[in-house]
Amino acid sequence: MQNADYITRFAPSPTGPLHLGHAFSALTAWDRTRANNGTMLLRIEDIDQSRARAKWEAAIFDDLAWLGLSWPKPVIRQSRRQAAYDDALRTLWDRGLLYPCTCTRRDIAQALSAPQEGAPSHGPDGLIYPGTCRSKPRPANPATDLALRLDMSLAVQTLAQDLFFQESGDQHGARQINVDPAELIEAIGDVVLARRNMGTSYHLSVVVDDAAQSVTEVVRGADLFEATAIHVLLQALLQYPTPTYYHHGLIRDADGKRLAKRDDAQALAIYRAQGASPEDIRNLTGL
Ligand code: GLU
Ligand code: ZN
Repeated sequence: MQNADYITRFAPSPTGPLHLGHAFSALTAWDRTRANNGTMLLRIEDIDQSRARAKWEAAIFDDLAWLGLSWPKPVIRQSRRQAAYDDALRTLWDRGLLYPCTCTRRDIAQALSAPQEGAPSHGPDGLIYPGTCRSKPRPANPATDLALRLDMSLAVQTLAQDLFFQESGDQHGARQINVDPAELIEAIGDVVLARRNMGTSYHLSVVVDDAAQSVTEVVRGADLFEATAIHVLLQALLQYPTPTYYHHGLIRDADGKRLAKRDDAQALAIYRAQGASPEDIRNLTGL
């Protein structure tokens, strides 16, 4: 009997080959699933259709099956989930928490370089947005060809509850992380929830899908620790439950450098072609 109290997911983007870092993440989620007699879902995060490729998706299925993992079918593809993202955006829009933003990266950098702004600070998504479009008149309906940003200070003002999540990981034991609303405003700012011509963003789609798939524990790299605060906020705003978060360390190469996600020298396909076994991959990732 499977334990419905433990559902996790591995959620790769089919924009390139899976690397050792992905294998470590998937195997960590798999080991935790087995220890909890739970279920590990596979979700294809292909909202960026300009970069997603069918061949990479096929390679993901093949590499994961080779590693010995299995998952329930059908597999959710985010590119088919726009209606669910629209619903969530509509909820936030109707509460006045979203506004369209027409700024380019360059506009943002320029606004931040004005002398009175001081040194620009970076959040998990890059430069913290200076709020240029926040006070412009808003259309009756959210347009799909524009980016939509969350008005962070308004969002935190509407919260009736404290924000926190239960976190564990391979670096430390279980702990409760409190999310400070002031930090959300200062260190994260007005995040993009729908990217221009994409209809959603990583943050929004991940939160909507984790809730829709009843995920109870998110297993992912510690590089997403700061994004978790955004996700916990969105869960509160959308009245979704907050799963627990297990953040694993990032594996490093022999020189101690973080493995770049795009370093194709670490592609599983290369190890496989050289005759490595799934057990060798486990050993290489330190599991
Ligand atoms: N698609 C994201 C990635 O490839 C998933 C991150 C997450 O697990 O939330 O990094
Ligand atoms: Zn703007």
